[in-house]
Amino acid sequence: MKDLRNLTEAEMQDLAKEAGQPAFRGRQLFGWVYKGRTDFREMTNLPEVFTAWLEENARIDSLKLLARQASKTDGTQKFLYGLPDGNAVETVFMKYKYGNTVCVSSQAGCRMHCAFCASGINGLVRNLTAGEIISQLMDTERETGEKVSRIVVMGTGEPFDNYEEISRFIRILHEKDGRNMSSRNFTVSTCGLVPVIERFSEEFPQVNLAVSLHAPDDELRSSLMPVNRSYPLDQLIPACRAYTEKTGRRITFEYALIRGKNDTDESIGKLIHLLRGMLCHVNLIPLNEVSETGLLTSGRKRAEEVREKLEAAGIPATVRRQLGADIDGACGQLRLKAQQAAESED
Ligand code: SAH
Repeated sequence: MKDLRNLTEAEMQDLAKEAGQPAFRGRQLFGWVYKGRTDFREMTNLPEVFTAWLEENARIDSLKLLARQASKTDGTQKFLYGLPDGNAVETVFMKYKYGNTVCVSSQAGCRMHCAFCASGINGLVRNLTAGEIISQLMDTERETGEKVSRIVVMGTGEPFDNYEEISRFIRILHEKDGRNMSSRNFTVSTCGLVPVIERFSEEFPQVNLAVSLHAPDDELRSSLMPVNRSYPLDQLIPACRAYTEKTGRRITFEYALIRGKNDTDESIGKLIHLLRGMLCHVNLIPLNEVSETGLLTSGRKRAEEVREKLEAAGIPATVRRQLGADIDGACGQLRLKAQQAAESED
């Protein structure tokens, strides 16, 4: 049985043919799926024989809502969804001036083991399918009753460690008979898998790219992000520069400020030296403290000082608005809590 949210429009047309239907029925089906319908009987322009065939041979896998937290201050909502195999993923819904955004997860767990992050604490469980990533969008719209116009792949997981499904997810949502989402409305964030950055720049030059930098030199970066041992800065920065040159698009560097680690004047001086002259933007994130890591946040005041230093050196920088500060804000915290609760019940 196929999860229809995994299929491109062309594949849905093939499915219609398999069911003995003309290809345009596949296009109609695709349209319904992206209107959010999950019941074949509600797809009123499909012939009875086709809906009966679909009921036997296809499914639309909605996710099961396991937990939901809503911020009382800014409209942010965080969802923990159950997958058919019992795993769980987190999705965040955010309201911005320019439209609603969802932050989706790309993997259950993560194998990158960044020192500050909750998602990698228990390692990688498995890749999500394109359909499961799309479901995070579709089911969050269902749960909130709101339309979403932008998607950021910044939840649990390393998207470039699951490239095939991430590229399929973007392609499907891009299709004009479905969501018709512009590439510019996607942002993919990576910890810095250099060969995949190069491939992505070729295949998705219009999609926004964010790179988690978090440190201005190899020694510090390797201690915070083990991936830096495979792809150190003298490979990462040229790949980022090549992305901006190839696409003409600004790259975003994420920099989580960790007290006494990467927020010193010395570190910020090195950061300026590293990025000067590049078509980029630095997104400063006061660290969300995850108690298991023992790392502390620099706080908003220091983040503002760092922003001013970068701006004075000609590097555009913003301090990320802290959305959902009153709910478990940091990546993977809700999922981690649920796992810990389940373990303590065992
Ligand atoms: N694996 C991808 C995307 C997921 S994480 C990546 O590394 O970019 C999304 C962003 O949140 C990354 O920049 C990540 O480094 C950051 N992040 C993870 N844990 C954090 C924490 N506790 N506080 C602040 N930012 C965090």
